Amino acid sequence: KAAALPTRKTLEDFDWDAQPATRQQIAALASGAFLTEARNVVLLGPPGTGKTHLATALGIVAARAGHRVLFATATDWVTRLTDAHRQGRLPQELARLRRYGLIIVDEVGYLPIEQDAANLFFQLVSSRYEHASLILTSNLPFSSWGNVFGDQAVAAAMIDRIVHHADVLTLKGASYRLRGRGIDSLPS
Ligand code: ADP
Ligand code: MG
Repeated sequence: KAAALPTRKTLEDFDWDAQPATRQQIAALASGAFLTEARNVVLLGPPGTGKTHLATALGIVAARAGHRVLFATATDWVTRLTDAHRQGRLPQELARLRRYGLIIVDEVGYLPIEQDAANLFFQLVSSRYEHASLILTSNLPFSSWGNVFGDQAVAAAMIDRIVHHADVLTLKGASYRLRGRGIDSLPS
């Protein structure tokens, strides 16, 4: 399931007027220095604010700089890790994934993650900590991740490792998808 980038969304395509507050932060990330420092990027904000677009654009930056990149939704990562665990090859899978300079986890928070799967996801985060970068996107603030992962302690330990060396960007405003359609916002 985890594969190459799903679309060709670039930083050049991004309309900064819609997200002026994060422009400086993204410009700094565009150098790609976060990858060699094994830093993470967390993109938070409501639907349609450009999280997947920016995650993809930073993935393209990484690929251009010669890093190997994998992109999948949180749900797909969980499926992949669960399969590896069932087959008794989780350590090998985590070791293999460590060879990727960037792993993108899109859409943390749209679908709940079972407690067992949350433990596997925690192991993915741990295995990359201070070794290789993660980009995560979520519609939910960190304070709600305990509910997503069904375990407050695991979520807290995971967030602790993710944000220790990370840039956290909070995107704001109305959905870019609904622009000019006379729709202000969707129910959250
Ligand atoms: P999210 O992942 O936050 O729900 P997306 O990144 O998928 O939102 O954005 C929804 C659509 O709107 C995509 O087609 C994306 O390319 C476009 N989009 C969002 N924000 C911007 C922006 N600031 N400039 C240009 N296109 C944008
Ligand atoms: Mg998205």
